[in-house]
Amino acid sequence: ADPAVQVPELLGSPLLDVRGASALPLPPALYLDGEGRGRANSTGADLTAPAQREPLQAALDTVRVEPVPEATAADVDAAMARLHAGFTGWNGTPVAQRAAILRRAADALDARLAEFCALLVKEAFKTQADCVAEVREAVDFLRYYADIAEQDPAHMHGRGVFVCISPWNFPLAIFAGQVVAALVAGNTLAAKPAEQTPFVALKMVDLLHAAGVPADALQLLHGAGETVGAGLVAHAHTAGVCFTGSTAVAQLINKALAKKPNSPIPLIAETGGLNAMVVDSTALPEQVIDAVVQSAFRSAGQRCSALRLLCVQDSIADGVVEMLKGAVQQLWVGKPEQLATDVGPVIDDEAHTNIGKHVERLKREALLIAEAPVRDVLPRQIRPVAFEIPRIADLGEEIFGPVLHVVRFKDSVDEVIADINRLGYGLTLGIQTRIDSRAQRLADDARIGNVYVNRNIIGAVVGVQPFGGEGLSGTGPKAGGPDYLRRFVAEPRVDAPA
Ligand code: NAP
Repeated sequence: ADPAVQVPELLGSPLLDVRGASALPLPPALYLDGEGRGRANSTGADLTAPAQREPLQAALDTVRVEPVPEATAADVDAAMARLHAGFTGWNGTPVAQRAAILRRAADALDARLAEFCALLVKEAFKTQADCVAEVREAVDFLRYYADIAEQDPAHMHGRGVFVCISPWNFPLAIFAGQVVAALVAGNTLAAKPAEQTPFVALKMVDLLHAAGVPADALQLLHGAGETVGAGLVAHAHTAGVCFTGSTAVAQLINKALAKKPNSPIPLIAETGGLNAMVVDSTALPEQVIDAVVQSAFRSAGQRCSALRLLCVQDSIADGVVEMLKGAVQQLWVGKPEQLATDVGPVIDDEAHTNIGKHVERLKREALLIAEAPVRDVLPRQIRPVAFEIPRIADLGEEIFGPVLHVVRFKDSVDEVIADINRLGYGLTLGIQTRIDSRAQRLADDARIGNVYVNRNIIGAVVGVQPFGGEGLSGTGPKAGGPDYLRRFVAEPRVDAPA
């Protein structure tokens, strides 16, 4: 078929997320509650507007991150005993009451948006656009899971004590999403946030307790994954684990759970990715570059969904690479608290060293396309960088930073998808083409949880684009989707006929 024939057809259609949103006739930043009202959303902040900017600036001037005490093995035991004892009471609390607590917490979080944004800037070095989106996403999780639970109250019967283990890269949204899903489903739970970002988790748990979650239903335990995290997983009272983080740690947890006398124990694992974008010769280069810059470099590449591999068809590759060089030169790498900053520092020295080693190796072994300029010299900065590598199979492990790998391909787009499938991960994929039928076929062939066509591949929206991977990228069910709570609940009781 002549690709040109299909162009008007595609241009008339919305930018679609093939596997999450395409069926929903909604603007991408909204979902509707049971009464058809649009709800708070995770995109669309205008930080140049004084009404949004000034409270955030004030919070940045006043909010402080404080140290938190680490839990001992005795603290873990005491917390688990309390949660075990608290299960019957919390699970017996009517679902409407549990949902009402979540909504109260959502309102409180919404009202304290500036304070939580400032915490995310200071503790996780989020840029301002990223921190606003994250607080809003957390609010969305609270309201959305409250709605979902109330749609099916008969099935919201918890399994017992859940353990929720979360990463530092979305230390509020992922942390809160796991916790409130487990809670509204009827479980009590112990939460173990990442060591790099304990204080924002502490503040969120305080907020949930103030909104009405009893201390017997929710306990927070700080400390190292290898000790506190592993101790919680191994604990005799643990009835389920919800984990978001690296594939390697998910595999460790899976093995530890399998060895327990009360196994099988459900594990919900959302893990890493080696995410690609496939650009065929009909794609619109300006749209590609915008999507690439957002997906590969925003949040300093520290998103599980971030773009690591750009596969460009040979006939347009020179032009795309030239435009990419220009776009990378424009990126502003700077302090997270400055509004102009596109890319802030990476999370810690260890990440800085590891990403730095990968960049140094590629500077010796691959073709450097572009590296963002130095503006201010700041700690833990990695300048966004793009390299050309010969083959998709050369990609190796997930590098969790602003490093893009570019591969050219000649003929078969389908072969590219087969190579991506062979990597074994399956979190996000971008397809850039002006041939509708091809976009659909590639999306069907890809073993990938979230496929995005003609747009960036980050920033799934709660209730609109449920998020989760296949293969090495996770077990599902997808977070922010209608099925998520099902894995947290026990199978409904079936009474024998009298
Ligand atoms: P990580 O190193 O796997 O850590 C995640 C959590 O697991 C932390 O709280 C960590 O504690 C804990 N942990 C470490 N070892 C443990 C053990 N043996 N037993 C129990 N818990 C243990 O991941 P991260 O560096 O925080 O986050 C980045 C990774 O998360 C990337 O791979 C990214 O792709 C992935 N991620 C995936 C999604 C998704 O939805 N698919 C979302 C966000 C991030 P410590 O604080 O002590 O390390």
